[in-house]
Amino acid sequence: MDLHCHLDLYPSPAEIVQEIDRRNLTVFSVTTTPSAYLKTKALAEHSKSIFTGIGLHPQIVSQRFGELNQIEKHIERADFVGEIGLDGGPEHENSWDKQVTVFRKALELAETAGGKVLSIHSRRAAEPVITELLKGNGNNTPILHWFSGSKKQLNAAIEAGCWFSVGPAMLAGAKGRELLAKIPLDRVVLETDGPFTQKNNIPYKPWDALELCQPILCDIY
Ligand code: MN
Repeated sequence: MDLHCHLDLYPSPAEIVQEIDRRNLTVFSVTTTPSAYLKTKALAEHSKSIFTGIGLHPQIVSQRFGELNQIEKHIERADFVGEIGLDGGPEHENSWDKQVTVFRKALELAETAGGKVLSIHSRRAAEPVITELLKGNGNNTPILHWFSGSKKQLNAAIEAGCWFSVGPAMLAGAKGRELLAKIPLDRVVLETDGPFTQKNNIPYKPWDALELCQPILCDIY
């Protein structure tokens, strides 16, 4: 599986789709803008194991705030919701209020749609993300993608019912591995976050998730 991958951003998405199908992988194809949703969904039209999410990435909320209504339009039929979330980095401070507005609205719409799986970005924002999740009615299934908060925040996220998608990039460092060791195995799923993550300038592909994470998981569990 690769439960957080930006399929539409690879140079040749059609080739990636073909290989995903050949290997029979389960892939969550996230989008960073609502306007990319339909064409990203079309990439996976003939695939049974690629699921497409509607998302609005917190790092580009200032430019894409106007697309919020498109989440509303498509969310009911979307396979899941993502990439959504909050980014507390200083470079995104100016858009914080808009980020919160978008994240809240997405959570609320997902609940109204009967509950959705969510792929969530929480860089430097683990606490506010968990706070927002706890306001919900429990219908949604949150997956924190590439979690990088503190151990205390990790425990709060586990308590809040979160799942965690971990990948080669997160597990490359000691901090990521220490966090992973504290997560119950039955809350762990795999991701690559490709093509944003890479090794020697070659973007990770969905099939790298298991291959590269398995030895580390076996070591820890
Ligand atoms: Mn991502």
